[in-house]
Order: sequence, then structure tokens, then C-alpha cells
Amino acid sequence: MQLTVDNKVILTPLPKILETLQSQLSTGKLKDIDSSNSENIRVTCPNNDHKGGQERHPSCNIFNLDNNDKVTKGTAHCFACGYKANFVQFICDCFNNDDIQFAKDWLLENSDVAFQSEVQYLPEIEIETKKPEKEYLDESVLTQYKHYHPYMWKRKLSKEIVDLFEVGYDANSKCLTFPVRDEYGRLLFITKRSVENKSFFIPKYVEKPVYLLYYVLQHKLTRVVVCESQINTLYCWTLGIPAIGLFGTGDSFQYNILKTSGIRIFDLMFDGDSAGRKGAYRFEQYMKDYCFINKWILPEGKDVNDLSYEELTKLPVI
Ligand SMILES: [Zn+2]
Repeated sequence: MQLTVDNKVILTPLPKILETLQSQLSTGKLKDIDSSNSENIRVTCPNNDHKGGQERHPSCNIFNLDNNDKVTKGTAHCFACGYKANFVQFICDCFNNDDIQFAKDWLLENSDVAFQSEVQYLPEIEIETKKPEKEYLDESVLTQYKHYHPYMWKRKLSKEIVDLFEVGYDANSKCLTFPVRDEYGRLLFITKRSVENKSFFIPKYVEKPVYLLYYVLQHKLTRVVVCESQINTLYCWTLGIPAIGLFGTGDSFQYNILKTSGIRIFDLMFDGDSAGRKGAYRFEQYMKDYCFINKWILPEGKDVNDLSYEELTKLPVI
């Protein structure tokens, strides 16, 4: 759909409008504009909740087609943080100004416009002022799980790492507890792993972040091991190897977070089974243009936690 403001069609091409916008901002936003894909322009995300609006590499898409009947031209969508806004709201966010009228006026002033004829009349675009809000847990929920359990040592975790990453024990469910944080360290949810059987509990319908990525980013590490499970990830740290976990074999939401993370080398240590091999292949396909990838080949039926430091370092790598 065409981009319209107060029944006026915006005629100036979006890349040109974005350039004008960029030149007028004093917020430091919109550092990068990549118009190489004419359907989706990529810009650095203006969402203040995403690296303070100062993302280093562009991951916010701006839809740039007039003739799609579902999406309005100018709609912004950031794959890294989930930010979504129509173009007027996007302008507001670039200026750090919540006044929709200001953004509308700015757009009309900085673009050629045509009046929609009566026949072509389209309802005015709906202004989405609400940003997606994620809910976070209060840190105090972790207090009740501050206990050690022998199963932690059985899985070869050190006390130091258990303390550092706040692994706990819930006596009610007889489970180890693992706080899961987003890349900024905010507490999203808690997963649980039974100490009696192989049950694993993760809240339904959550987008899985990348386990322990916040810690890697805080310490500006540029090379990490990638594991499937949280225990494998924690075991790597116990061995002194920085690692992140995917809660499985990975998905595009996680790849998109990792693409803009600044990590340059990923050492994949997925489980030695067909799901692990498929996961490693998929990771490589998505990520190979953004980073270096080493695939460590684990023995059939083994995962990282089954192997010693010496065994891990002697694995074949492709
Ligand atoms: Zn974003």
C-alpha cells in the first residue's frame, strides 16, 4: 500500500527521505542506510531498547513497495529486537520525539505529495504507537532457587560457574533451574531440568534467546563455542571455554541476534546426531556471510558434556 499522510500520497522515494532524515538528526540514529535491496531498505534500528538506538550494523527493514496489499510502504521491522512501526512512528523514534503530528508535518514538508482523488480514497494509515513490550521477571524470583544439588557436580559443572550463571535448585519440582536472559542481561524466564529423569521445561510460546550471550557481549568476546543445551554451555565455561547455547539446534530468531552481535568466530559443537548435524548445516547456511564458522565433529551419540577437555580439543574440525 502507498504511504499516505492525511490523505496525501508521499511521492518522494524512501531512500531520499531517509537521507534527508539522517542529515537532520542530532540523535545519532540512522547511522547506516543500505538501499541496495529496493524492496527492503536496511537501516540501523532506532528503537531505544535496542542498543540504545545505536545499533552498529543495520538490522531494521523498511518496506519499500507501493503495491503490496498487506503491508504499507515505510513500515519498519527490526528482526533483531522485534521493533515494528509505521513510517510516521519510525520518524518519531529517529527524532526521539513522541509527537505524531510533528512527524507527519516533517514528512509532508520533506516530500513531494499528491492528493488522493475521491475515487482512490483510502482510509488513513493507522498510527501504531504501541511498541512491542516484552515482560521481564523480577530478579527476586531467583532467591528461592539459591541451593546447590549434587546433580550439578554429576554433570561436571564447577561451583564457580554455577554461582556465576545463577544455576539453582527447585526442591518442589526436583529440578535444576537456569535463569535465561536476553542479550542485554534482562531476565526473561527460567528453564528447569529434572535431576531424576530427562525432563526439561521451557515456557511455551517464548522466542528463545541465545543462552549466556549477554555475558559474552558484556565481555566483548569475539569467539565462542555454540552448544545445543544449557548444561553443555555451562560445561564449556567450566572448562574455561566461552560458550553460548541455542536451547536446541537454533532458529532464525537466534541467527538474527547473532548476526549483529559482533562475534566473529563461532565454533559449533552440536550433538553427535542427525539433528545436530542438520543444525550445524543450517547455522552455516544462515551465518556464513557474517562470520567464520568451525564445525567440530562430535562422536556419534555424544554431546559436549560427555567429553573431557582433551577429547574436545582433539575433535576433527571442518
Ligand atoms: Zn531493533
